Amino acid sequence: ATPTSIMVGTGRGAQLGVLVKSGTALQTAESVDTVVFDKTGTLTHGRPELTDVVVFAGDESGNALDEDGLVALAASVERSSEHPLATAIMRGAEARKLVVAEPESFEAVPGHGVRAEVDGQAVLFGNLTLMQEHSVSGVEAGREQAEALAGQGKTALYLAVDGRLAGVLAVSDTLRKEAPEVVTRLKALGVRVVMLTGDEELTARAVAAQAGIETVVARVLPERKEAEIRSLQQDGRTVAMAGDGINDAPALARADLGIAMGSGIDVAIESGDVVLMKSDLHGVLTALGLSRAVMRNIR
Ligand code: ADP
Ligand code: MG
Repeated sequence: ATPTSIMVGTGRGAQLGVLVKSGTALQTAESVDTVVFDKTGTLTHGRPELTDVVVFAGDESGNALDEDGLVALAASVERSSEHPLATAIMRGAEARKLVVAEPESFEAVPGHGVRAEVDGQAVLFGNLTLMQEHSVSGVEAGREQAEALAGQGKTALYLAVDGRLAGVLAVSDTLRKEAPEVVTRLKALGVRVVMLTGDEELTARAVAAQAGIETVVARVLPERKEAEIRSLQQDGRTVAMAGDGINDAPALARADLGIAMGSGIDVAIESGDVVLMKSDLHGVLTALGLSRAVMRNIR
């Protein structure tokens, strides 16, 4: 039978906007010694905005696309994508009142970007790896700018047209304001804090630094997030994972304690043992705190 104190604990959590789905979850939370945070949508609001547009070399005739041309093209490629980065680009194009063409074809490359055909041009939009895998020329010219933007915690995305770098666009997301405090308090409890993201190392490190997180695992492909959790568990850690996205669902299920953001997508919410209804990161402390209080009561 479920001890009364567990019911009281879960009831108290619910009042505080922290939905604990089972008594087992509440019990497990007590022994958590590592908390892994996803970056986009968890430590940050997940509503990135287009902040920078850098124009690079044009086609053979020397016709470079201007800033608006680059944004319009990126938006065409992102039209059918549901990625938060795509939403940022679409909103950027809308703010600039640009006409966004329908692509002839579209393909998402998970963890790397998108590729499409627009007006007979082969367009690639995404990270450096995507460019390198397609042997895009002129990429070196854009790297310095891209890295400077990443150093500011922005996600720099390369845009290539017909195998040649056309521009670099940067998208930036804001840290949830409570993140630094929550990280500090977790550390004070003796909990190890880790950030896990598919984004580039430089961007990831800059955002982690703002949150006070030193341990960063960047460039994690969507299907590898779960493996990263498993590897921490194999090191003997009891792991809580906080996430919001489709990429996070398997990792949330794998973690000893999956913590889903209430603002996250359904699959993430279903995969979590705990749901932060208000998407306030303080909920992570609430869950761990309740568990400690309840378990103390039971013994
Ligand atoms: P995260 O863990 O931050 O949610 P993802 O695994 O979804 O990241 O993506 C990793 C990286 O792949 C992004 O930072 C970006 O560089 C690139 N990428 C993924 N999807 C897209 C997209 N739709 N448009 C542009 N770039 C993308
Ligand atoms: Mg996310």
